[in-house]
Amino acid sequence: MFDKILIANRGEIALRVIRACREMGIQSVAVHSTADTDAMHVRMADESVCIGPPSSSASYLSMPAIISACEITGAQAVHPGYGFLSENAGFVQMLEDHGISFIGPTSEHIRLMGDKITAKETAKSLGIPVVPGSDGGVPDIETARKVAGDMGYPVIIKATAGGGGRGMKVAKDAAALETAFRTARAEAKAAFGNDEVYIEKYLQKPRHIEIQVFGDGRGKGIHLGERDCSLQRRHQKVLEEAPGPVITAEQRAEIGGICARAIGEMGYRGAGTIEFLFEDGQFYFIEMNTRLQVEHPVTEAIFGVDLVREQIRVAAGLPMDLEQDDLSIRGHAIEVRINAERVPGFTPCPGRITQYHAPGGLGVRIDSALYDGYSIPPYYDSLIGKLIVHGRDRPEALARLARALSELIVDGVDTTIPLFRDLLQEPDIQSGNYSIHWLERWLEQRFG
Ligand code: ADP
Repeated sequence: MFDKILIANRGEIALRVIRACREMGIQSVAVHSTADTDAMHVRMADESVCIGPPSSSASYLSMPAIISACEITGAQAVHPGYGFLSENAGFVQMLEDHGISFIGPTSEHIRLMGDKITAKETAKSLGIPVVPGSDGGVPDIETARKVAGDMGYPVIIKATAGGGGRGMKVAKDAAALETAFRTARAEAKAAFGNDEVYIEKYLQKPRHIEIQVFGDGRGKGIHLGERDCSLQRRHQKVLEEAPGPVITAEQRAEIGGICARAIGEMGYRGAGTIEFLFEDGQFYFIEMNTRLQVEHPVTEAIFGVDLVREQIRVAAGLPMDLEQDDLSIRGHAIEVRINAERVPGFTPCPGRITQYHAPGGLGVRIDSALYDGYSIPPYYDSLIGKLIVHGRDRPEALARLARALSELIVDGVDTTIPLFRDLLQEPDIQSGNYSIHWLERWLEQRFG
């Protein structure tokens, strides 16, 4: 086992990893930019190293700075969290070259799944059902017209290098195709430096269902059921729950089994998420994320496992401590993302926290790096915390969420907390009757 792990991240996810390290008796090293000197992850880690100025590209994304920090502190492994360098195959390669372990899959698996076209081809070859669409990249508008015409409208044009909901455009009909195609390409070029796009059938009212998978890197693969992340704004998740309100035990066992087998066959190591759209009882693969997800705590709650501990174990070459037959679901969990944002525009709202009070009690978990007097810097993601509740069933989890939200105080900046209080009043949220478009429509009706 490692003696010391460096966490190449910040905010709540850095704390999450530090907590797992401490329980395992492993020393933790935080890295931080000059804007994060007073951040909670710096205070909570056993050691810390300043790796650069506020801009992410010069600090949290600086591979040489992070490798130097490992060498200075003697950290034997790096946990990347999510975002930043977590899906950067070049970074993993560089760590390998320096004899530092990466807590995640191999660079080859990251590369394979990081390109959405090769990811989809791989998924298909492993027996995973995919969304109907173009065979690979679509090079020009003529090909796009042909593909979309054959498939039927509406279609969605997606960047193969895409992520975070960027580089995606919907074309309702043939007249809208050219603009959508050109904008998607331009956006992809600007955001990812790669303008390759592909086309998929645009599903009308799907749910976003993702399967948590885990592999030992030596042919064993398991699944930990699904999360329903259909409540989204601009393709970004806002609330997640597990198990999915509309997924049956048979459906879970079937798709979970397919995913677990695929992970074993690939020889995949560590945690991963296979994302699907789910419509009319069918699952359609959209992508795989080769890292821990923001919403992993809902899975941890219902299965009673520590996914970060498992990630660290398999990265250290130990066998994974999870057996499919021992895993069973207990109750229902819901997570809401607390962002420092002004609703309805969701404009980031950095600033000083004048008062912070976290809820507690049975079945309540807060993953947050906030504290009284903390100043949220303007340079990074606006996620400032996650509230996760666990109940014996969905109604109990919903009641607990409302109760926990009534206790939570974050003053000084605008947040998404009032939005969740409002959403809990909605019959569709109470009944679980929502698709990926529900929230956008609700926001439009409410705020225009
Ligand atoms: P990203 O990597 O940018 O997050 P994804 O491929 O995971 O992109 O898609 C994100 C979201 O976009 C999905 O959860 C869904 O809401 C929407 N989406 C993607 N593909 C389709 C599709 N074929 N039909 C309808 N909606 C889609």
